[in-house]
Amino acid sequence: MFTFWEFASQHTLVVTQSCPLRCYPCALWKPTPPQPPALSHVSPERLSAVLRDHSFFNLFPNVRTYHLMGGDPLESGLLDLLITYLAAHRVRVVLWTTGMRLATMASLAHVYRVVLIVPAVDRDLYREYTGWDGFEMVVDSLQTLKHAKKKILITTTAHPETVPFLPDIREWCWRYKVPWLLVFYRSDQHSRESREHVTHYRHVPNTWVMVAKSPLPGGCVHVPYDLLQSPWCWAGMILGKYRRYFPFLR
Ligand code: SF4
Repeated sequence: MFTFWEFASQHTLVVTQSCPLRCYPCALWKPTPPQPPALSHVSPERLSAVLRDHSFFNLFPNVRTYHLMGGDPLESGLLDLLITYLAAHRVRVVLWTTGMRLATMASLAHVYRVVLIVPAVDRDLYREYTGWDGFEMVVDSLQTLKHAKKKILITTTAHPETVPFLPDIREWCWRYKVPWLLVFYRSDQHSRESREHVTHYRHVPNTWVMVAKSPLPGGCVHVPYDLLQSPWCWAGMILGKYRRYFPFLR
């Protein structure tokens, strides 16, 4: 899973709102997508300018980790340049991606961790959820990452309608021996059974359940922005996993 430093000294940057997928709960592919908060977003023109004149860290904080998200950051034509720039400044890069264009990425060697967005592991369900018949590409990307010995995390958002997919996704992660982050938004209307089903994954090895307030407006639904913004949220997730050892927290 993530290390403490990936939360305690980090910044989240939406590098593009473009994405090859069309997940049904997502507002980014709708005719008028909401703008993300100004501090978490950079336009291509601005990014190109600050990378060219080396003023990137005048605009954004100089922290140990950058979480790059979208849309899908791989859709940004400046991603390789940005990652190389950050790596040259000894900043760790965590990439939150659908994995669709990973095979063509030139700067993969400089990425510290890849978080692969996997909303379903059945080809038909994946197509139904994302509007893209490309689940094989996700598997290829995962194999490329494993071959390159990258740190990998799979993330899934548990909506009330997708809770029945979760056991298969868990099984898939187990088969590929990759950790799984299950995100659960309080803003979703889950039934009591569905809530209990999601939270029971806290006790499953190599699985982390994150209860977040809501997704970042104008960002990818699958990125738990709360988790990235607050080390306390991160600490809450860790305590949630091990709460059976802390009976006073019940
Ligand atoms: S939710 Fe994320 S992966 Fe899905 S379409 Fe939106 S940006 Fe792309």
